[in-house]
Amino acid sequence: MSIKDYEFWFVVGSQFLYGPEVLETVAARAQEMADKMNASGNLPCKVIYKVTAKTNKEITDVVRAANYDEKCAGIITWCHTFSPSKMWINGLASLQKPWCHFATQYNREIPNEEIDMDFMNLNQAAHGDREHGFIGARLRAPRKVIAGYWQDEDVQKRLGKWMRAAAGAEFSRSLKVMRFGDNMREVAVTEGDKVEVQTKLGWQVNTWPVGKLVEEMNAVTEAEIDSLMDEYRSLYEFATDDIETVRYQAREEIAMKKMFDREGCCAFSNTFQDLYGMKQLPGLATQHLLATGYGYGAEGDWKVAGMTAIIKFMTEGQKGGSAFMEDYTYHLVPGSEYSLGAHMLEVCPSVAAGKPKVEVHPLGIGDREPPARLVFEGHEGAGVVVSLVDMGGRLRLICQDIECVKPIMPMPNLPVARVMWRAMPDLKTGLECWILAGGAHHTVLSYDVDAEQMRDWARIMDIEFVHIGKDTTTESLEHDLFLSDIAWKLK
Ligand code: MN
Repeated sequence: MSIKDYEFWFVVGSQFLYGPEVLETVAARAQEMADKMNASGNLPCKVIYKVTAKTNKEITDVVRAANYDEKCAGIITWCHTFSPSKMWINGLASLQKPWCHFATQYNREIPNEEIDMDFMNLNQAAHGDREHGFIGARLRAPRKVIAGYWQDEDVQKRLGKWMRAAAGAEFSRSLKVMRFGDNMREVAVTEGDKVEVQTKLGWQVNTWPVGKLVEEMNAVTEAEIDSLMDEYRSLYEFATDDIETVRYQAREEIAMKKMFDREGCCAFSNTFQDLYGMKQLPGLATQHLLATGYGYGAEGDWKVAGMTAIIKFMTEGQKGGSAFMEDYTYHLVPGSEYSLGAHMLEVCPSVAAGKPKVEVHPLGIGDREPPARLVFEGHEGAGVVVSLVDMGGRLRLICQDIECVKPIMPMPNLPVARVMWRAMPDLKTGLECWILAGGAHHTVLSYDVDAEQMRDWARIMDIEFVHIGKDTTTESLEHDLFLSDIAWKLK
């Protein structure tokens, strides 16, 4: 499913008090607003005006329909007039889809000559939305609140970003992750409660034998490999003559993709400790699968695999790129402090600054033949790194703001893709905060989502969210984590 296939239902609050003419005007304007916002090009999904809600039954009916509609990824509510909120309680209490309260107003200006009490009764979002806000707070209902004029580009874009997070939540609830082998032996952070993850996030995380993958690889035809090699040649620069090694990666990719598509999986993990019957650890194969939208986690890290798939889905059509990443090593020169992120092979080429090169080098880990991989530098730009960890009893999503730079040295002997960044608020504080929060070494690095969107997604999934940004201090974060731990135990 594409993000464009999702819809958001526009539900506008009113009541009978003002007579049929006002209600007709409200309905016509709501339709006009939906049409104009859809035509703006600022929203990734369609807004569908559903109803001017005046009764408990109308609201309950539209919520029930939204809950069971596969294409509906959320509701957007707004009160053009005053809409007494006790009639919203039954509907909102049964709402299972993401909710955005859009606090806007049909008219931008207060019209000096025209304004009279009729105008006031029609255009009273300022207090209608406050009544509506109270019932959301009173019900402790998780919701996004976006305030601003509905025709302003920045307001529409913010609504669009929330839509991406909400669609990401719908995607999450149908996500299947294919595991080849278990987690890397003895590693803690890649472990997790798969029952808890399925309950909260909806992911179906299951394992398939590596032997089945090898069987599938043996059945791949030379013609299938020829075709994928043509695609590799069109996208990447070949900096190797070892074509057989590259063809082996193509064989691995084709076999994995067949298994994913057969099972409906959009993410996968594998481990260098279980490559039974395989000649190479998948490198180029994994990188190209990532580039086409699959999520991936190395060393059996199925949590980062799922998060990569979700962020790739949320950011469909955007151009910055999102990749499986690992914090590898630091540059600790005062005033020039950077993190260098990489992995032993599997960084997604969607974040590349130039045309990636296909290279073949030995790999010390995994005890297999030298694998083909893509080598490139990540591009400059603002982004985030995101890590999902299992705290025991709850999930925590950690998001740190970063500024990617062109790597400050060429590193000609480093045979892997690399991204260099400045961590927020600075390397030392950011690192202390990340470690205090228990963030993993594996992350999703994305140039296309921001912390607000990840917070929106975490709120919808009902999991803990920790943000490390330009204003974060170690002291404030430590305090927040302490309070959060108590709050989540009580929840
Ligand atoms: Mn790793």
